[in-house]
This record gives sequence, structure tokens and C-alpha cells, in this order.
Amino acid sequence: MNRPNDFISRCCPYCKSIRTRWYYVFDNETVRHCPECNLIFRQERGSEKKLVEYYRNGYYREWGEDQEGYLRGTIYSDALRFIEERVEKGILLDIGAGCGTLLALARDRGWNTVGQEISLESCHMAKEKYGLELRNEYLREMDWEVSRFDAITMVNVLDHLPDPWWVLGKAFNALKIGGIIYIRVPNGYIHSWFYRISDAILIPFLKEKMRKFLVIHLYHLTTRFFKRVLKDSGFGSIIISGSEVSRGTPYLSFTRGETLWLFMMKKYFPILSNLIYKITKGRLIVSPSINVYAFKD
Ligand SMILES: [Zn+2]
Repeated sequence: MNRPNDFISRCCPYCKSIRTRWYYVFDNETVRHCPECNLIFRQERGSEKKLVEYYRNGYYREWGEDQEGYLRGTIYSDALRFIEERVEKGILLDIGAGCGTLLALARDRGWNTVGQEISLESCHMAKEKYGLELRNEYLREMDWEVSRFDAITMVNVLDHLPDPWWVLGKAFNALKIGGIIYIRVPNGYIHSWFYRISDAILIPFLKEKMRKFLVIHLYHLTTRFFKRVLKDSGFGSIIISGSEVSRGTPYLSFTRGETLWLFMMKKYFPILSNLIYKITKGRLIVSPSINVYAFKD
């Protein structure tokens, strides 16, 4: 029997279309696809209050090691180089700044930096490691200054947020004309495809093994969805490409065999995905994560 809120939860949270379709099952929950805007979303996304509580107090303990080191060093330096080739260095805002590694790198390259981070433990680490004073605020409570920033970065943040489109609208207003936003997220198409394939695997052990390498937070954000939502938010030119993989294998729950498999995938899969990107002239991005750059023209 349908629960009373099923109709609402089946609607697309972005474009409100009622024509969404069942996509696959994740942890006994339905994941749906909206053919209108190409958003793929978990039907049950939990309360915002619980999410905020988790990112404020639980996330750092689980993923702090990932934030603290330079596992994403190449990703940060590639993104900063890309931005600096197109925008004058000025003020850079990093949303979900973690322990401040990207900001410290940007500061060393001549940027004035501002960082927002909800976890107090991450803020302490940023202060201790890099002398950075991050804003320990939730995005809804933050003072989004209008037309202040030359660049805004969000690395592996947007698909964790209940309403990414609200944040993109705020970010657009906070950028100066000519400013740029950089977003990195898991590649929604690739992860959702593999989840769908794994849904068809009837042997639970194999299914579980495959899913360990996949990720869904609240949404799968696809390239087509980005083109729609960024245009709706007011952005002009958009550039989307495959992203570098992070270094290391920071997943504590992995066995030695799984860690070795992940290591091999991180080493060789980028070669294949770069080749496919070149052959299809950028039309097919199969890398596990994507880089999205958009300009406030
Ligand atoms: Zn939609």
C-alpha cells in the first residue's frame, strides 16, 4: 500500500515533474530518475536536521583522514590552474572546506581566501595545520555576500546537500561578474549505471562487492542536469570534464583485496576514460568524478 507522502516523494525535488521513474534500489530504498531535468534522486532523503547533525558531528570522524592529507592535492592544483588561466586572482570562497587543504594551496598561490565548514573539528584542524579561520556556519545561516567573490569552489560537497540548486543560486549572486564556480562531484551517470547493473546481480556477495566501489549521497548529479540547473541559476558558459582521481585508498572498511582492486582501478581507469573522452570529443565522460566549471558572464 502506498504511504500518504509517496506521491510527493516521487516528484522530482528540482523541477517538480511527476513523470519520474523507478531507477534502482539502494539499501531497500528507491532511487528515481527524472527524465525532464535528468536528476537522479533518493526517494527517502531523511530530514535536513539529521543531515546537518551528521555533517556537524559525525562526518569528520569517518572521513577526516581523507580531508587532512594531500590525497586530493592534484585535483586542487589542477582546478586552481584552470581557474587562474581564466580569472584574475582575487577572493576565493571554498564551500565545505574540510580541513582547509584547498584554501591553504590557494593562499600560497596568491589568493585571498574565505572558507565555510560546518564541522567544528575540521575548522580546528584547518586552524592548527594552516592557520586558517574558517566560518563554522551552516549554509542556510551564512551571510552570502553579494558580488564579492572571484571564484567559488565546492569539492565533493554538492551531492551531499538537500537542495544543491538553492546553493548554486546563492553562489551565483555571491560571485562578481566574470567570476567562476568550480564543482567536483561523483559522475552521476556512471555511478547510477553501475548501481543499475549491480541491481540485476542475484548473488548478494557479488552485488555487495560491486557496490563498494560506487557512491550515492542524496543525488546522482549528471552532466545534463548540471547544464540545466546552472543555466537556470543564471550561469553562462559551462565546461564539464572528467576529474582526476584522488590518491590513496582511504576506505577503512575495505579488505586488502578490495584495496588492491581500488588501487588498480585508480591507476588504469583514468587512461581508459581519457581515451574515451578524446575519441567522443568530450561527449562521453566515464571517469568516476567530474569537474564542472561555470562562469557568471
Ligand atoms: Zn526533474
